[in-house]
Amino acid sequence: MKYYSTNKKISGVSLQDAVVKGLAEDKGLFMPDSIKRLPQSFFDSIETLSFQEIAYTVADAFFGADVEAEALKKIVYETLNFDVPVVPVNDNIYSLELYHGPTLAFKDVGGRFMSRLLGYFIQKQGQKNVKVLVATSGDTGSAVANGFLGVEGIHVYVLYPKGLVSPIQECQFTTLGQNITALEVDGTFDDCQALVKSAFMDEELNAKLKLTSANSINVARFLPQSFYYFYAYAQLKKMGKADNVVMCVPSGNFGNITAGLFGKRMGLPIKRFIAANNRNDIFLQYLQTGVYTPRPSVSTIANAMDVGDPSNFARVLDLYGASHEAITAEISGVSYNDEQIAETLKACKQQTGYLLDPHGAVGYRALQVGLAADETGVFLETAHPAKFLETVEGIIGEKVEIPQKLQEFMKGEKKSLPMSKDFESFKSYLMTI
Ligand SMILES: *Cc1c(COP(=O)(O)O)cnc(C)c1O
Repeated sequence: MKYYSTNKKISGVSLQDAVVKGLAEDKGLFMPDSIKRLPQSFFDSIETLSFQEIAYTVADAFFGADVEAEALKKIVYETLNFDVPVVPVNDNIYSLELYHGPTLAFKDVGGRFMSRLLGYFIQKQGQKNVKVLVATSGDTGSAVANGFLGVEGIHVYVLYPKGLVSPIQECQFTTLGQNITALEVDGTFDDCQALVKSAFMDEELNAKLKLTSANSINVARFLPQSFYYFYAYAQLKKMGKADNVVMCVPSGNFGNITAGLFGKRMGLPIKRFIAANNRNDIFLQYLQTGVYTPRPSVSTIANAMDVGDPSNFARVLDLYGASHEAITAEISGVSYNDEQIAETLKACKQQTGYLLDPHGAVGYRALQVGLAADETGVFLETAHPAKFLETVEGIIGEKVEIPQKLQEFMKGEKKSLPMSKDFESFKSYLMTI
């Protein structure tokens, strides 16, 4: 499979180059030349297959031509050694719990898959000293850092906004050591993302260092996220709930929802999507007006979605041939403020006993408001509520139990380097590593 850039100046790129480069040289995002439709027979018996079996079929459609079958199978099976159950919450609303991996957030799937695929290519090329740059609003850093921890030949630099990630999120990438370095940027997530993007565009840096990105701009990060949409569908089918499925995706950089849209293109019977936003409603504005106007992000209690210029918007546009009409036919949007998020989290706990995290709460609310009587709604519960401990405990007025995996991280010692948001100082740092 070859990849082209959403900016259309670059095409014919191999998977290996797309993964190692991350971002195309014309600053566009890589897209596969074609999206294979999976055969009807796959969907007819999907409920009899395991998560790994389903994921391997999907992975094979994307990567099968470029990665040997045995290696790909190993990558898929090692990545997905945890469950992503669909859990009923209320009426026709289900939670797709994506937080049973090592860092308790959905990004574990893409982070683990990408680290293994990149490791595979680097080994094949006989390369060393690859530097992975990753900007994080919280969860990406932990998933990517933990995915890459100890992977030979690769060093990861995690850029995160000072004071804007929760203490538990922070300890998941600042306490690891080894081949993981945390950079605490005096700025917002958008500033971190801009630093990473500028680094990729800087000729001098790229001449000196082998740089790559592990944000959802990387195809190896975002495409594997389609796996669990298929598995969610399989679980719904088993429950007799697979008609008129609405997938509601709490969205920030739009990598997660884009993976779902790819799934639909591959034939997965999803009726429609909802992109659920916090107050950073750039996508909703686009749906309503047809005009895309990025603006600086504002900070909210669903901080992993505090994104003012979602990078995967370019992929959504590309997927629909830039047709606003086609996009609005399949995707609707919502935006909720912090009070609404808190109110939803609290009410859901009281009425159903189910504990949402602030991101999942945005998705749950969108389904409560927007689901038709004949539809089944699934929202992606993107992180474990304990990752946002202070916020969630403050809202429900109760203690939240911290899973053992998180407690382990909290025991470590925080180590990070302060960094200004100014590119020149970031660049001079990179020149010394
Ligand atoms: C990253 C993240 C999101 C947003 O996902 P995108 O793919 O960037 O749209 C939502 N919730 C949580 C908890 C996240 O970590």
